[in-house]
Amino acid sequence: MKDMTHKGTRRQFLKTAGAVGAVSALPMIGCGAPPKVIVIGGGFGGATAAKYVKWFDNRIDVSLIEANKTYATCPFSNLVLGGVRSMASITHDFVAMQEDHGVHVVHDMVVTVDHKKKMVKTKGGKALPYDRLIVSPGIDFKFEAIEGYDAAVAETIPHAWKAGPQTALLRKQLEAMDDGGTVILAPPPNPFRCPPGPYERASMIAHYLKRHKPKSKILILDAKDKFSKKGLFTEGWKKHYAGLIEWVPASKDGRVRRVDAKAGTVHTEFETHKGAVINIIPPQTAGKIAHAASLTNQLGWCPIKFDTFESTVLDNIHVIGDASIATKMPKSGNAANTQAKVCAAAVVALLNGETPSVPTTSNTCYSLITPNYGISVTAVYRMSAKGYTPVAGAGGLSPTGEGPKFREQEARYARGWYANIAKDIWG
Ligand SMILES: Cc1cc2nc3c(=O)[nH]c(=O)nc-3n(C[C@H](O)[C@H](O)[C@H](O)COP(=O)(O)OP(=O)(O)OC[C@H]3O[C@@H](n4cnc5c(N)ncnc54)[C@H](O)[C@@H]3O)c2cc1C
Repeated sequence: MKDMTHKGTRRQFLKTAGAVGAVSALPMIGCGAPPKVIVIGGGFGGATAAKYVKWFDNRIDVSLIEANKTYATCPFSNLVLGGVRSMASITHDFVAMQEDHGVHVVHDMVVTVDHKKKMVKTKGGKALPYDRLIVSPGIDFKFEAIEGYDAAVAETIPHAWKAGPQTALLRKQLEAMDDGGTVILAPPPNPFRCPPGPYERASMIAHYLKRHKPKSKILILDAKDKFSKKGLFTEGWKKHYAGLIEWVPASKDGRVRRVDAKAGTVHTEFETHKGAVINIIPPQTAGKIAHAASLTNQLGWCPIKFDTFESTVLDNIHVIGDASIATKMPKSGNAANTQAKVCAAAVVALLNGETPSVPTTSNTCYSLITPNYGISVTAVYRMSAKGYTPVAGAGGLSPTGEGPKFREQEARYARGWYANIAKDIWG
């Protein structure tokens, strides 16, 4: 077992996150059994939160409940589609979490949260009590928003918006496709997980087609009129994929309304498009358990107190990551990781009878247009009563008009970002 105290670093983090003061006085802890923190979800938010609660105060009994034995990251899953990375390289396990970091890992599905009894119940029949619960279940899909599309149809027309078997299926379909076919990609309306993700996906599929099926085409039928890093993507597409990618915005009849799985067609208001491969990314909502636990608002996302990520609906339950409403912070893995650290520090403070203080957060999002052509957007967020607002002048988009050296460096940073964040979370 590693030394779990890491005092210097822990104190430094708590100070810079502005989360709590000294953690040496432990009024809540020490007068009986150690407090129990349960975390639901072993993805970007949940796995970070579990590890950091334990790291900040190893007297707390932390359990992480994750439905699957391994976790495939959505970040870099587009590179799997492009044939640039393997599935194995984006798949992580929870062995270090359990063996090195002292977190109890339970592979099961939480089906009920009883907030009055402070208890979660799992599909496998476990009833586990908590003092504080952290919920990071990611997203679910509003399949009903697109006629003809549902979970069963997604087994033949993948969304691939949760990485794993869906990613492998879409990759297989791209490999099996004849040269000269059209790949249809339908991004959802806002808000959704990873705003630049669909356009990085188009880039990585184009990278594959250019090499292996050069007569093919990608048609993006969008539910929106603008998208994240549009100027940078457009510049990169012109440079590398001229004539290969066509983007149709919502105002030009881009919005997909119906899918006919048997005919292999996609229908907008006025047009029918035939796809050799179809990738529908449906509109999204908070993960199922957030709904089952009554943590969501009428829009399907979870309102939170901004300093602690504690639900504004139910006490002692914190919601982080994609499922939460973190105002201007995007639904990204990087954001979930940052929020998890703020939340972990706040939970430790609250369990120690201390007052969490005002956090500052950040997000960086890299996208690859080719394996050696990267673009990025960065922001630092300041918290106020209204939520998280980007600090003017801190971060921004990487510039357009840069040459290959600059883009190659951004691609290198992207690979470094992935390696570091994966190690931070599952390492
Ligand atoms: C194609 C694509 C590319 C992306 N690229 C990037 C990128 O480059 N950078 C970036 O920062 N972000 C990126 N993202 C976004 C990122 O993947 C998400 O924002 C991030 O995963 C959110 O973390 P989370 O903890 O909220 O949810 P997740 O990471 O989805 O974790 C949720 C976990 O909870 C588990 N779970 C759910 N319900 C239960 C339950 N009831 N019981 C037990 N377990 C449960 C699930 O099995 C899952 O493991 C990308 C997304 C996509 C789709």
